[in-house]
Amino acid sequence: MAAITAPTSSTVQTLERIGAHSHVRGLGLDDALVPRPSAQGLVGQTAARRAAGVITRMVQEGRISGRAVLFAGPPSTGKTAIALGMAQTLGADVPFVMLSASEVFSLEMSKTEALTQAFRRAIGVRIKEEKEVVEGEVVEIIVDRSLTGATKTGKLTLKTTDMETIYDLGTKMIDSLNREKVSAGDVVAIDKASGRISKLGRSFTRAREYDAMGGDTRFVQCPEGELQRRKEVTHTVSLHEIDVINSRTQGFLALFAGDTGEIKPELRDQINVKVGEWREEGKAEVVPGVLFIDEVHMLDVECFSFLNRALESELAPLVIMASNRGLTRVRGTRYTSPHGIPIDLLDRAMIVQTKPYSEAEVREILTIRAKEEDVDIEDEAMSVITRIGVETSLRYAQQLITTSSLAARRRKSARVEVPDVRRVFGLFIDAKRSVKYLQQHAGEFMSDGDFDALPAPA
Ligand code: ATP
Repeated sequence: MAAITAPTSSTVQTLERIGAHSHVRGLGLDDALVPRPSAQGLVGQTAARRAAGVITRMVQEGRISGRAVLFAGPPSTGKTAIALGMAQTLGADVPFVMLSASEVFSLEMSKTEALTQAFRRAIGVRIKEEKEVVEGEVVEIIVDRSLTGATKTGKLTLKTTDMETIYDLGTKMIDSLNREKVSAGDVVAIDKASGRISKLGRSFTRAREYDAMGGDTRFVQCPEGELQRRKEVTHTVSLHEIDVINSRTQGFLALFAGDTGEIKPELRDQINVKVGEWREEGKAEVVPGVLFIDEVHMLDVECFSFLNRALESELAPLVIMASNRGLTRVRGTRYTSPHGIPIDLLDRAMIVQTKPYSEAEVREILTIRAKEEDVDIEDEAMSVITRIGVETSLRYAQQLITTSSLAARRRKSARVEVPDVRRVFGLFIDAKRSVKYLQQHAGEFMSDGDFDALPAPA
């Protein structure tokens, strides 16, 4: 038997690069949250991107947990792409969990357990630890004058472990911000939560004044070098990871296998209490993240009622749903509702619309995709693919980019030209042509009626 080898970083990179949304690097907004026509891989859809920007900022400010947002719009109008742009903007430290509604229906666990796990994966716990600096680590020193009345903040990441250098640079930085040098015997204030350092002079008098004002500040008299010898490290884990690690039946190895099974509610209660204690002791901070549920109309009425309740709990992430359905039956009921979502949940959701693209926008998106896939396409061929994109769908046109580049390669050309596009357009049909063919040849296909007409099994 051939040996199984782990994928190398280059194969992983290739896979990632051709992922459908690999060109999306952010929301493409300026500081005032105004969308640039085409930036960070996103094109047009300005109202939805702006709304996404506002929501992202609220998440960053911790003001929007336990709320629901719905991206509603026709297929291929960028609902998933915009959600990924939000994830990129939030950064790796804020959990962003993507779930396709159909994943909730599995044989291994109940629907509500699957949703609970997704909820808890979307809530981060930022745990703080104080550590000695050891050889080979990156040290970060943050100096902030906000404690002494000014607002300037400096940040410095050192890629050295040499204590002399660290001390020198740290001192210089404090010096440039405070115009005073920190030296042996100085009193400094260290903000416990942020690790910020401010110089307070050489006696504890001012420290006492600050102390009287309250706040979470530690005061130290500064023996040379001591200041930088300790650092605070934070790492973020999700509530779900804490659940799994503490689950006696699963153990932490289950995290790697991804096979976590069901977790007892009592354990979750205990963990909520524990995290609450860490919070009070200043050891941890809860970071509500985002749970993105794609194709939300695939959930059934029990899942929707669970969502409604879970959104009200104390530890809830922001739930973003996406649907391309219009008036649709709510799964598990006889009732139709907009987007297949029950009215009570819809009522509490902030709805963001996505709209079809103009021809120029389709061309821009396809040009970005071609670049992402390293495909060189001549202008005329790009016009043809764009036209096809407008007439059929953006997704179909995107597939033509990859396939026509293969056709070009077969005739040993590095550039896609119109005949390559024509060739693959004939080889692979789009949904509209498929439906037309079906209608014209209805009699030759099997249909439900044929199955009904089969004799009953003996
Ligand atoms: P569906 O309802 O079918 O799930 P959707 O609205 O989620 O569709 P996406 O999957 O986001 O659509 O978009 C289809 C493809 O087009 C993806 O490759 C996506 O990255 C790209 N795309 C869509 N909108 C934009 C945009 N505004 N800018 C750049 N790329 C886009």
